[in-house]
Parts: sequence; C-alpha cells; structure tokens
Amino acid sequence: MNLYSGYINQLIDELAALPGIGNKSAQRLAFYIISMSPERVKKLSDSITGAKEHVHYCKVCQNLTDTEVCPICSDPKRDRSTIMVVENPRDLAAYEKTGKYQGLYHVLHGAISPMLGIGPGDIRLKELMTRLQDDTVREVIIATNSNLEGETTAMYISKLIKPTGIRVTRIASGVPVGGDLEYIDEVTLLRALEGRKEM
Ligand code: ZN
Repeated sequence: MNLYSGYINQLIDELAALPGIGNKSAQRLAFYIISMSPERVKKLSDSITGAKEHVHYCKVCQNLTDTEVCPICSDPKRDRSTIMVVENPRDLAAYEKTGKYQGLYHVLHGAISPMLGIGPGDIRLKELMTRLQDDTVREVIIATNSNLEGETTAMYISKLIKPTGIRVTRIASGVPVGGDLEYIDEVTLLRALEGRKEM
C-alpha cells in the first residue's frame, strides 16, 4: 500500500539505497529534508551534484580530490620516501586524523578477492607500480584490512614490490581480524603503524 505520494516514495527509496541507511532512517531523512527551507535543500542537492561532477581520483595517489593532484600529494612537507597503501579513502582519512603519519598514500579502491572475482587489474595497483619507478620511494607500508581480502592483497603487492629492492612492511595486526580500518581508534592505528613488520 502506498502511504505517500510518488515524490516522497522516490526520495525514501533513493535514501534507503545508500549504505548504512535502512528504511526507517530513510523515512526520517526524507521527512526532514521536506521540512527544510528551499535554500537548504538547494544547497544539499547542489553539493551532491557538485561533488559528483568535480571530484575525481588524484593523478598520483588515487585519493578523491577536486584538484588534479590532491593536497596531500602536493604538500612539500610530506615525506616522499614512504607510501602507505590503503584500500579506500576512508582508511586514508582514518590515518590522516591521527596527524602522526607524514608520508604519502596510495588508495587501491578495493582489495583482491578471488571469491568476488576482483583481480589485481580491478584495483589501482598499476598506478602504484608506476609511482615506484621513481627512486625517491624507500618504503611501502601496506595498510590493507586484516581480513582475507586485505591479507591476499598485501601478499600480492609484497611479491610484486620485493624484486625492486624497496622495503615492504605490513602494519601490525593490533587491528582486529576482519576489522575495517576506519572504525579503529587512533591509538590502535598508530600502534599498528609503529609495530609494522617487514614482509
Ligand atoms: Zn594524491
């Protein structure tokens, strides 16, 4: 039975399709949006279309940015000899929030998963290897998640980089198994980084 008009239903459906938002939350958000002033609604919808239109991957690290090279990659104060490899922009944000990591990043946008049919060619691995041809890089810290996909990806990358002579390390597994990096507190993240081991 359709309680609401087409517009309300459509808005609820669109919101409910977002990750982490169930039907109840979608309804609550939809009603809230409808109660907002027209100016605020316009601002919200403009920020969604604007972000979609202008945000792309950084040419260097593949993080999301609206400039050609992201602020981290273009910051002259960052240590260019170290690259931390993460699965997604959220993981990068988690490490960046600690304020203690001074190196650069590389965002893979996924992890290798034979079960889901995601191979090395489906993540931003080629871009990482291209960056390593530049001989300023001394260490690659692999900070993929500690679940099966993350470990598989770490092993694969390690094997790929080893022959280049660049040091490859893996963050310590103080991170709970299967835990997503973004949900882990800063102290644990830093401990995992400091306790990293040679691969
Ligand atoms: Zn970048």
